[in-house]
This record gives sequence, structure tokens and C-alpha cells, in this order.
Amino acid sequence: MEVSGVQIYQELLRDGVNRLREAGIDEAGHEVRRMLMAASGLSRTGLISAETDAVPDEVANRFGEMLRKRQTRQPLQHILGSTEFYGLEFLCDGRALIPRPDSEVVVEAALRRIPEGEAMIVADLGTGTGCLLAAILANRPRVRGVGVEASPQAASLARENLTRLKLQDRSTVFEGSWADWRDWQTADLVISNPPYIASSEIAGLAPEVRAHDPVSALDGGEDGLFAYREIIELARDYLKPGAWLVFEIGHDQKEAVSGLLELAEFTEIGVSKDLGGNDRAVWGRKLEK
Ligand code: GLN
Repeated sequence: MEVSGVQIYQELLRDGVNRLREAGIDEAGHEVRRMLMAASGLSRTGLISAETDAVPDEVANRFGEMLRKRQTRQPLQHILGSTEFYGLEFLCDGRALIPRPDSEVVVEAALRRIPEGEAMIVADLGTGTGCLLAAILANRPRVRGVGVEASPQAASLARENLTRLKLQDRSTVFEGSWADWRDWQTADLVISNPPYIASSEIAGLAPEVRAHDPVSALDGGEDGLFAYREIIELARDYLKPGAWLVFEIGHDQKEAVSGLLELAEFTEIGVSKDLGGNDRAVWGRKLEK
């Protein structure tokens, strides 16, 4: 009997899981399914019912290429080309930080401060993919917003995402630093997930993050707090009284960042945790004069 080179889906899955486990990837089963779905065009249930079917060559080739990339610890989100955040799909690649599920609580903290139907203006400092801004705009149809982004590459990705999500009519992307941005007075709420990792900790991050997220989106200076100091100082000088400032923070930065907000005379300071139980969002309100 002739031995055929054709594999069935089940074998491809099993082989893929083994290879990713060897590469040190924990969620190998989940990731292999996601890649095989993308390579084959099959849905989750479609893949389950096809498990004993033969895999067409072009599907096997596409899947093999994805697997090879993932074995070198390229992020799954870059390989798939997009990720889901707050129920929306965002294109992602090396131009900006990959949206993290933990950041969804930062969006929630902001949405709690934007009453439904209110025509507020939101600014997202260091917008990256545009995920925080887009999630807010998609959930508050009367809100308009600006994404401030110093990296031209990230700014181009933010524009692509806002356009794909049909939010371009209610948003702009300002290409420049938050210190160069001149419209602080217009914002009712400023949100930011700034770089907050201490410089010395970058080398110890997972390869997916260290080698594929832009370092400018991660590196928060010697103590990880440089961006917070800059933004809070600018907000103290230029933000409108009564406006909100909402930050994503690192798990151990609650005291430091709320302390900076207190020093700048912010009021109604609060903190919320992410789904993993880590402090993740901090907010404060500019004192009404
Ligand atoms: N949450 C990101 C991480 O730990 C860091 C993002 C940031 O510095 N803003 O990978």
C-alpha cells in the first residue's frame, strides 16, 4: 500500500500543539486552533467537524508557515494580523502595542465617567492601535475624540483601525507628543495607557513583548513613572477644571500614580482592578476652581 503524505486535521493539530509546547508556549492548544482556523477559513465548529478530513495542501502550507513564526515567539496577534478588544477587531502589527484584555477595565473606568447620550470630547494619549479611543467611541455615539500619537507608524495604524471601525468621522489622530498637543482645553476626559515598565525590566519580558511590541510603548524610564509625571504635569497646567484623567497602570503602581495625582490636586481619585485581580486603572478629576 502506498503511504500518502496527506494529513488529517487532527494530526496537524496534535503536531502543532507539541511544537508550540516545545517552544515554551502555554496556551498551545488554543493558539494552534486559532491558526488552523485562519489557515483553513473554517469556523471553530467547522474545524471540530472536519477533524478526520484530509487537509488540502495550501491549508497545510499556510498553517506550517504560521506555526514556524509562532515557534520563533512572534506574537499570535501579529501572525493572525488582528486581535479582539472590547468586542471590536483591531489590526495589529509591529507598529504599535498589541491590545491587552487587561486594558478593558481602563475603558470601563472611562465609560463610567461618560454619561450615555452626553456629547463629550475624549483624548487618548499614546493611542497606539487606537483601541482605547475606539472602544469608547463605539460605546458612546455622541462622543468625539482625538488619539495623540508620537510614533508616525502607530499613528498610521490608529487611523486604519478607526476607519475600519467607521469611527473616522468622530475622531482625529494628532501625530506628535502629548507635550506638543495644543488642545488640552477641549477635552472632558483624557485616557492613557502610557509606557510604564521600568527600563531595567524590559530585558526580562516575554519574547513576544520584548522583541515585537515597540519599546517606546513599554519603557517608562528608570522607575516606570516618567510618562505619568509628564502627563500629570501637563494636565495640572492645561486640563479643563472638572475634566477626568484615566490611566492604565502597572500592577504595583497604584500608590505612586495616585500620589502624583494628589500632589497635582486632583480629586475623586479611584482605582480598579483587572480580571486577574491586579490594580489596573487609576483616575482623578481636575479640581473645579
Ligand atoms: N501591559 C503591558 C505589558 O505588561 C505594558 C504596557 C505599557 O507599558 N503600557 O506588557
